[in-house]
Amino acid sequence: MSNTRPKHAPMNQFLIRDNCLQIGGIPLTRLAQRTGKTPFYAYDRIRIAERVALLRQELPAEIHLHYAMKANPMPAVVQHMASLVDGIDVASAGEMKVALDTPMRPAQISFAGPGKTDAELSCAIAAGVVVNMESEQEMERVAGLGDHLGIRPKVAVRVNPDFELKSSSMKMGGGAKQFGVDAERVPAMLARIGRIGLDFEGFHIFSGSQNLKVSALQESHEKTLQLGISLARHAPGPVRVLNIGGGFGVPYFPGDEPLDLAAVGRNLRRLMPEAKRELPEARLVIELGRYMVAEAGIYVCRVLERKESRGQIFLITDGGLHHHLAASGNFGQVIRKNYPAVVGNKVGHSESETVSVVGPLCTPLDLLADRMEMSRAEAGDLIAVFQSGAYGLTASPTAFLSHPAPVEVLV
Ligand SMILES: *Cc1c(COP(=O)(O)O)cnc(C)c1O
Repeated sequence: MSNTRPKHAPMNQFLIRDNCLQIGGIPLTRLAQRTGKTPFYAYDRIRIAERVALLRQELPAEIHLHYAMKANPMPAVVQHMASLVDGIDVASAGEMKVALDTPMRPAQISFAGPGKTDAELSCAIAAGVVVNMESEQEMERVAGLGDHLGIRPKVAVRVNPDFELKSSSMKMGGGAKQFGVDAERVPAMLARIGRIGLDFEGFHIFSGSQNLKVSALQESHEKTLQLGISLARHAPGPVRVLNIGGGFGVPYFPGDEPLDLAAVGRNLRRLMPEAKRELPEARLVIELGRYMVAEAGIYVCRVLERKESRGQIFLITDGGLHHHLAASGNFGQVIRKNYPAVVGNKVGHSESETVSVVGPLCTPLDLLADRMEMSRAEAGDLIAVFQSGAYGLTASPTAFLSHPAPVEVLV
């Protein structure tokens, strides 16, 4: 029975030739020579483009796709993405700067997040970026800063819905939240937006992240559309954008199945006539981070030592939680599970064994794979951790223990 249980999430997105993983057509060993050092992150531009193409194929043509760049803010990735998607969502002035360096038009860039400073808001207003306002206080600050700059700010209201995205590993809407304005308070805010003359774009309704369950996403899309329609009645002008969020999940762990994107698309197609009828001037936006990039990236570290302790084999590597907190299980996971990983230069070797892959940090939390079956590895071999294109480097405490930072390459 136990051997029918999946050992890891799908990891078939890259070619394997002569037992060596190929990233962007380059053998992993060669790529390690090119980066000149390990550890490194490598992102495959073709895989990213294919993923966006799949979204275009399965979702209704009317849906605008935005990239939520906090998932992977590497400037080269964002630059690549700008040629593929319809907009970029940023969450800080730092991200906004990277997004504005791409050819994306500022009106297609939106800025969300609680706790925006006056300096950040001023930059956004001056750039012509849409500010997704997260509170009434932020609205008043935006209005004041717009007056001061002599520019009419483009704004949307981020709504904290009165429902949750079920089965989501990270809930960001429903109940009491620091994100957005409670739905029942939005009508009064819309009246105020009209009085103070902000340039009203529409609504941003994001309720959660990392969802693999079609029924939960379908329910959330239906409720989000209804909420958008009912709030539109209070708007000071036509709704030009209804951002219905995202939350499409990625299979990270043993037993996770890829999201049935076609089913999500069919449901959205069914909702389109009502959306067009009730909100004729609105672009419908879906914003995605990890779904666009996670599976296009790997994290690579080198085995420094193969160590045996009381019958258990440890592969001690030069990489670990300081570079890849999520793979160590310390980025919001409740129960630690293994990310898919292989010995990247010895994939499918006949001699395999059960090993734990650990990093160089002086903490037992520094664990990349816990008792996982892999090809037999020696010092010098390369460990590749899959599903690492999102929330990797920039979501990790790189300063912890003062090791050097990893390299990032887009191939
Ligand atoms: C983080 C975030 C996203 C991206 O979430 P993913 O799970 O990476 O798709 C999208 N929108 C908002 C508002 C976010 O905060």
